[in-house]
Amino acid sequence: MCGIVAYIGKREAYPVVIKGLRRLEYRGYDSAGVALLNGGKLNVYKKKGKVAELEDHVVGKDLHSVLAIGHTRWATHGEPCDRNAHPHLSGDGKLAMVHNGIIENYGQLKKELLSKGHQFSSDTDTEVLIHFIQEIKKSNQCSTEEALRIALKRVVGAYVILIVDEDNPDTLLAARKGSPLVIGVGKGEHFLASDASPIVEYTKEVVYVNDYEIAIVKADELILKNISNEIQTPYIQKLDVELAAIEKGGYDHFMLKEIFEQPQTIFDSLRGRLDAKAGKLTLGGLREHTDLLKEAKRIIIVACGTSWHAGLVAEYMIEELCRIPVEVEYASEFRYRNPVVGKGDVIIAVSQSGETADTLVAMESAKEKGAIILGVCNVVGSSIARLSHAGVYTHAGPEIGVASTKAFTAQLAVLALIGLKVAMEKGTITEQRFQHLLDELEDVSDKVAIALELNEQIKKIADKYKDARDFLYLGRGYNFPVALEGALKLKEISYIHAEGYPAAEMKHGPIALVDENLPVVFVATKDSYYEKIVSNIQEIKARKGMVIAITTEGDQVIPGMADDVIVVPEADELVAPIISVIPLQLLAYHIGVLKGLDVDKPRNLAKSVTVE
Ligand code: GLU
Repeated sequence: MCGIVAYIGKREAYPVVIKGLRRLEYRGYDSAGVALLNGGKLNVYKKKGKVAELEDHVVGKDLHSVLAIGHTRWATHGEPCDRNAHPHLSGDGKLAMVHNGIIENYGQLKKELLSKGHQFSSDTDTEVLIHFIQEIKKSNQCSTEEALRIALKRVVGAYVILIVDEDNPDTLLAARKGSPLVIGVGKGEHFLASDASPIVEYTKEVVYVNDYEIAIVKADELILKNISNEIQTPYIQKLDVELAAIEKGGYDHFMLKEIFEQPQTIFDSLRGRLDAKAGKLTLGGLREHTDLLKEAKRIIIVACGTSWHAGLVAEYMIEELCRIPVEVEYASEFRYRNPVVGKGDVIIAVSQSGETADTLVAMESAKEKGAIILGVCNVVGSSIARLSHAGVYTHAGPEIGVASTKAFTAQLAVLALIGLKVAMEKGTITEQRFQHLLDELEDVSDKVAIALELNEQIKKIADKYKDARDFLYLGRGYNFPVALEGALKLKEISYIHAEGYPAAEMKHGPIALVDENLPVVFVATKDSYYEKIVSNIQEIKARKGMVIAITTEGDQVIPGMADDVIVVPEADELVAPIISVIPLQLLAYHIGVLKGLDVDKPRNLAKSVTVE
């Protein structure tokens, strides 16, 4: 959520930072800004809107600098407008700051600062923090670095902050707690960013800054300290992301590119783990914890958004395969409702970015209470990966489209592997079924590729229904969470109100919405619920609803009932969601595009939700 980027070195910093902001724009895009330092004087330019608007705004301005910080905002405190855009300045105008996150006690700090005569020009919590640092600097007669350290001891909340100081033109200061910060180490230069995407084209050597660390960054020196001023050794890691992975590669949108990448990303998530021919499954990340998983009293899956839907599918899978009770919790609720959790519980935290603030906090509190934590995330070295006792990465590659697609199917694949592994170890699955499911997983990438061939057909269906005011998505069993995910995709991308529901539960309320104007999408592939869902389709048709059905090859019944039929390859019901979600992703995508919307940057949303 929100992108921050900075450069210090020998190059012109502005082009590096602006390019970085464009790469990070998927994280937040309601306003953007940069601070540059030329001849010891700060130049701050900021603008409401997308990065392109900032670029127009700076034409003809002084952009010379070998050091720059930049920000693309996802507003939490104060509406998106020029005044609230980052960077923010201290009262004396000498310090400029960009910030990702929330300062929760900003109200109290602001009160204290107002009583000391500070005046604020924005509504943000960020401006309060930079004034606070300057106030400490003044009253303690100390360096900015020292003032930052003192300030952070008082700050409650989550942040990555970067500070440029007019009086220290060769140093950038950075600090983090709860939000991500990566530092790229070049030759005589450093790149700082919320994720690696602005860095990969310059260097593959990176340092992930830890919580409560402060980085003092010069062109040719990187010092990390903890909050007690003790020097920490930076751990340099190699990035394995290629530039092509973060570019559109000929597609009109990242979302479409990512939808079409799924045969590969599912394959990559299974590769090296699944060997159907040999009847083997290896999950290196779980090796030391399989026993704990096997003996778990209960598994609690914590997640948000699309990952929560993947968690629901996993609940069905794991209960069926492993006979362990599974609960699926919204991380934001789980954390704050004082849940009964402790020894014997295994928490599976699912998150694409590995930085989802709600999920992180939920994990931390469960870990304190003695639960074992497994992480399923997509970003190597992310906070969730580091906080987990063990885990399995999805190998979906960078996901830039704000609406998650390929991360979801990779999560389903990985969660199926976890379920199968535990079931095998526990002896709750027959060898025959184990082998059958391995074969099914091995084939799933090819079936997804076949489902993607429906693209043109789905575009036509999208055109037919794009003006609907509401949509209902229904499914049963494993396809119920798929219905939820389909509805979420449509909401996110097209701003059409959509609800997902268990198909049978529909009778207990939502059926009141059904009339000849309501498209109802049924996820009705051949599974153990098939006969039941056919009846549910009848119930909708009897009330004149328009039915779009996702069915399986060879279905003779549903095509005679539905207004539009989308036929996907047949698969075991446990694996089917990986395939049946594909048409729903495409439907949302095409409706969004046909409505002229920016599907990669839908309104109000941002990728990687790093605020609670
Ligand atoms: N809380 C800050 C603001 O509202 C930062 C938000 C962000 O992460 O973009 O400006």
